[in-house]
Amino acid sequence: MAGAVNEDGTPTAHPVVTVTGPRTLHETNEAPTLPEPGRAIVDITYTGVCGTDVHGYTDGHMLPPAVFGHEWTGRVSAVGDGVSGLEVGQRVVGGVGPACGRCSQCVAGHARQCDTAFAEANGVDPDAPEHGAFAGQVHVSARRLIPVPDEVTDIEAALVEPATVTFHAVRRVAATPGAIVVIQGAGPIGLLTAQNARNAGAGHVIVSEPSSARRDMATDLGFTDVVNPSDLKARVEATTDGRGADVLYECTGVAALLQPSAELVRRGGTLALLGFPLDTSTVSYADWQVRELAVIGSLAYNHDDFVATIQLIAEKRIDVAPLHTGTVGLSELGDLLEELDSGRSSHTKVLVDPHA
Ligand SMILES: [Zn+2]
Ligand SMILES: [Zn+2]
Repeated sequence: MAGAVNEDGTPTAHPVVTVTGPRTLHETNEAPTLPEPGRAIVDITYTGVCGTDVHGYTDGHMLPPAVFGHEWTGRVSAVGDGVSGLEVGQRVVGGVGPACGRCSQCVAGHARQCDTAFAEANGVDPDAPEHGAFAGQVHVSARRLIPVPDEVTDIEAALVEPATVTFHAVRRVAATPGAIVVIQGAGPIGLLTAQNARNAGAGHVIVSEPSSARRDMATDLGFTDVVNPSDLKARVEATTDGRGADVLYECTGVAALLQPSAELVRRGGTLALLGFPLDTSTVSYADWQVRELAVIGSLAYNHDDFVATIQLIAEKRIDVAPLHTGTVGLSELGDLLEELDSGRSSHTKVLVDPHA
């Protein structure tokens, strides 16, 4: 285990990679620090690379620094004053803290929409780390750290954050058991949403994905109705006697797909939005109104979503390990982000090992 402390007891320096402009990464060696009260230092084991990181890299200015590298797991190497329930050496993942009880939303009784936890999810809380976890260490609020049980491997732990995003969305939709569900896009978010929808009692799941490698992964995860997008409309009509799906989870973020997605949902059904579009969409408001669609937006998660998702992974109810298709070191991150941005990568989820 990489420690935060040298043999003489002084903390070690560690590498940090940040975005300094469009398609520009900068690697520094960060001076050692000790944790402030209420905070902890975590030695990073793995950090997953996601589409948000790719957008932040190509744009150069869009992401708060803490969000570039937000899917991470590691070991606690030091805790500050006033931190309880965390041991040095303990494996953790980075999440969001419980509802704070003090913000405007909490005081008004809307604890699930706590402003503090929402700011933590978006890397803009007052205690947000100065950089993300494409680094040897992060210095974070202890309340955001969620313990990892022994049954969960480090690679599985690195996939907890995206799995939690999808658990949160499926919980928000709260479809009735037996629902006919479409998963649009079988990247990491789609593949994890499909598994959570199955756990939530979906009667039938149709997965739509243009990449044959990703369709194969969906099949390997036990999904039997996996189609190319060109066949999706006919498949939904045949499965539902022409009504449309009970729920469609939009997991691509392709703005132009929003209205066609809505048209695959039955009258009175639910369109759930997970993919994050960077462009505006043109939709038929009248169509959505007349057909009484329910639209569920979903971003990030609550603290208890992490606790539940880790439990589901520990009990093998969500299989995250097959999504891991490669591991790179920090020096290879730039090339990897270019590959992922090209749209020609066959990767599903790549992890960065800052000690590689
Ligand atoms: Zn992510
Ligand atoms: Zn709050």
